[in-house]
Amino acid sequence: MKKLGWGLVGGGEGSQIGFAHRAGSKLDGKFQFIAGAMDVDPHKAFEFGIAQGLDEERCYSDWQEMLEKEKNREDRVQLVTVATPNATHHQISKAFMEAGFHVFCEKPMTMTVEEAKDLLEISKKTGQICAVNYGYTGYPMVRQMRSMVANGDLGAIRVVVAEFAGGFMADAKDDENPRVRWRFDPTQAGMAAVTVDCGIHALHMACFVTGQKVTSVSSDFGHGIKSRQLEDDNLSAFRMNQGTIGRLWTSGLAIGRTHGLTLQVFGEVGGIRWTQEQPNQMFWTPLNQPTQILERGGNYLSEAAQRANRITVGHPEGMVMAFASLYRDLGEVIIAMNEGNRPDEMACWYPNVEDGYHSIEIVQAMVESAKGGSAWVDV
Ligand code: NAD
Repeated sequence: MKKLGWGLVGGGEGSQIGFAHRAGSKLDGKFQFIAGAMDVDPHKAFEFGIAQGLDEERCYSDWQEMLEKEKNREDRVQLVTVATPNATHHQISKAFMEAGFHVFCEKPMTMTVEEAKDLLEISKKTGQICAVNYGYTGYPMVRQMRSMVANGDLGAIRVVVAEFAGGFMADAKDDENPRVRWRFDPTQAGMAAVTVDCGIHALHMACFVTGQKVTSVSSDFGHGIKSRQLEDDNLSAFRMNQGTIGRLWTSGLAIGRTHGLTLQVFGEVGGIRWTQEQPNQMFWTPLNQPTQILERGGNYLSEAAQRANRITVGHPEGMVMAFASLYRDLGEVIIAMNEGNRPDEMACWYPNVEDGYHSIEIVQAMVESAKGGSAWVDV
């Protein structure tokens, strides 16, 4: 089968996240990288496009040129990934969707709830996909967690604890570093800092694994480095629509916690936990029984976890492969749409525009709660 054409906006040389998209999109043979506007500097965008093997005519100077030229081609790209800074996501995703392209947008999908609602409505109106890169949901063992919860293995879920706390914003000298300073400037970063940078992933995972939505929040935002205008620490309590009690801790001040993304889910008859730094293992403790370590690749895992697996047990898979799972899902869904077929239900597990919208709604409620002395705010 002919591969789907894939294009990348942002994610250029030296960017934090570009490599994982370029590598992840290739792994399962669904997409071919054929067009890009990968750098804000047109010269670098061209040079890097050539270095990545794109045809000269498809190394675009900016995303507007890419959109104008691609939309008139018969072999146009079918999926455009937007991996630019946050403030540009809404404008670029909107323009591509309205021109008939499917979009895979980096998180946070938008800066405001209004923008998120706009993308949701455009997606509904045009039928174009606007997926959001909560890439950690592509890990096989995260899919195993979701399957176990859905299967009732834990019973009703009482508590979910989501953490994304590392030391990445802990150096006070970074106040002078332009690459860090903008994150705490509301005119560039928007309504929140560490909550949209990191916490948003953990919140989405809590929803993804429990199959629930957040209904209300009470948040305490901290400024460990006093000069910062936006929070570098957030401890929140939340409630979910099936009564689950939620906890989120996200921080940039947690020196020593390298990445610090962990999810724990506690039900009536069992508990599970997973951490991103050991993504191939998941811990499962049935009530009153010893803890078991489930290994990625094991033939006892759920169909969804096995589906996201690629190599044999004991050979570690990592973050690029988690991103690749989302690309594979999207590829399957786009092919099914093109052929007028129904996609596999599990291919539809990729984070969609409604998930992107829900996340921004939660962040806005957290900001409001923190401003109101941690009062409970409905989402
Ligand atoms: P970065 O600053 O390292 O790189 C941004 C890239 O986009 C650069 O190559 C820059 O030249 C290019 N760029 C900027 N404006 C552009 C424009 N208008 N047109 C084309 N290219 C443009 O940023 P980053 O850390 O890679 O973050 C990019 C996005 O990815 C952010 O939204 C961030 O939140 C998100 N991100 C997601 C994850 C994840 O796990 N999903 C991880 C890190 C970053």
